[in-house]
Amino acid sequence: MDTGIDKQWLHDDLKKALAAAVVPDCSFEGCSHCGVCSPDFGHNIVVPPLPIPEFVGHFKPNTDRQARLRLCYGKQGSMALVSHLDVLRLFDRAVRRAAIPISFTGGFHPNPRIVPANALSLGHTSSGELMDFELTVPMEAEAFRAALAAQLPADMPIYSVESVSPSEPAATTRLDRAAYEVQLAGAIDWPGTIAEILHRTDISVEHTTKSGKTYPVNLRDRLFELDLTSHGEGEAKLRYLGSCRNDGTMLRPQDLVKMVACVSGAEIELGQVHRVALFLAPLPPGKEASTEPSE
Ligand code: SF4
Repeated sequence: MDTGIDKQWLHDDLKKALAAAVVPDCSFEGCSHCGVCSPDFGHNIVVPPLPIPEFVGHFKPNTDRQARLRLCYGKQGSMALVSHLDVLRLFDRAVRRAAIPISFTGGFHPNPRIVPANALSLGHTSSGELMDFELTVPMEAEAFRAALAAQLPADMPIYSVESVSPSEPAATTRLDRAAYEVQLAGAIDWPGTIAEILHRTDISVEHTTKSGKTYPVNLRDRLFELDLTSHGEGEAKLRYLGSCRNDGTMLRPQDLVKMVACVSGAEIELGQVHRVALFLAPLPPGKEASTEPSE
């Protein structure tokens, strides 16, 4: 390709640049004969900018909190490959498309009040995620469900929507336990190992903080139920109920792998993970919710 710019002109232009000389903009001032224009190409045409329309909206989003709806939804199939932050963006867009009157936080960087109970790790599927939506005007749970479902991908089914008081603690605050189904691989005696885990009261492993400090954690304290669903040659399917609090007291599937490895003394690999459900702690006395599930 030939832009048409003359080599000698480029050479002279470099010298002018090194000397910090100003070459006039040929759109508005004189032509410096760079070689681009010719009878074939014509000359620059400057299009005047269109007038800037007057802004009639307002920059302050509505921060009223008149209602809160709690959504229980699933994350299946290829949606397992969508990260937590992208799921939040997805809901942000779905809510806008569905014209749901979402409330915003204040400050210099307002965000929609869409609060997940807990992040789901990338690659994991789920049939029990919880998400709180705060609205500027009350909305029927069924109308909310229908409007949102019309905008969500098929692999994100909505199981239920319930109306909860905006004054009671959010799901992220009340989150207490989570149930998982996990596939593990390892050449061990699975029934014997599971029985030994349930028998013990202390299975401590070392946790490392972001700053590199290590401290012991008794993971057994965080395990409430553990069932061996099935097992075969070097692999097993387990279902467990463990702690899932947003203060860091959690039993992640990776922690279960550590427990099995610690008790069996063998190397264990984590396979497919499915979060079955999230469970909230009961409300303090006198703050019981009046829930109206839509389904
Ligand atoms: S008017 Fe055309 S030839 Fe003259 S400097 Fe501008 S681009 Fe180069």
